[in-house]
Amino acid sequence: MDADLVECRACPRLVAWREKVAIEKRASFANDRYWGRPVPGFGPADASLLIVGLAPAAHGANRTGRMFTGDRSGDFLYAALHAVGLANQPTATRIDDGLELRGTRITSPVHCAPPANKPTTEERDNCRHWLDTELELLKPTLRSVIVLGGFGWQALLPVLAGAGWMIPRPRPKFGHGAHVRLTGTTTIDLYGCFHVSQQNTFTGRLTPLMLESVLASAGRTAGLLP
Ligand code: SF4
Repeated sequence: MDADLVECRACPRLVAWREKVAIEKRASFANDRYWGRPVPGFGPADASLLIVGLAPAAHGANRTGRMFTGDRSGDFLYAALHAVGLANQPTATRIDDGLELRGTRITSPVHCAPPANKPTTEERDNCRHWLDTELELLKPTLRSVIVLGGFGWQALLPVLAGAGWMIPRPRPKFGHGAHVRLTGTTTIDLYGCFHVSQQNTFTGRLTPLMLESVLASAGRTAGLLP
């Protein structure tokens, strides 16, 4: 799936943007060769914990080719994953930096960097089939899902329903610390967490301890942590 995904050109606006950014570059990365393509999920194909974000960052994952790698959001996320024992190192700088996740995979509902970090509804819907497929592939081992932010939450609920999990009515609302157990073909625990964007981490809306607490809970439910 990942090999097919990186060839996708289904969203004209996002294809144009990701490639423009890759050519123009940010001055501080002028010597880097940008990835400039769809960014696949990162982590083992038999993960029991899935983390769902929003979309790649223009000069982060769109530059390095790996989710949350090479930007401040990733610095925050991987430091927390390492602190709770789900990553072998606290930093993520390049695709070949040796980072490995333990039983954890990171993906997003939109796989190409969008202008202003805002994909359109149509682009989200275009990209949905990749998330459908990824969930089908992960289903045999999946036990916990953490969604970073309301966009991912809204995007994921219909995908979970389509994959056979029953979504309660009324639909569970996104919030930091939201926790819902979903039953269906398997049982999974769904957690909400504020996104690791700089707007949240620089302002203290999301602290390392808050993120580590959600990761630890989901990691325990997934059988990855004691
Ligand atoms: Fe393809 Fe998704 Fe990128 Fe659109 S956002 S071009 S559907 S990978």
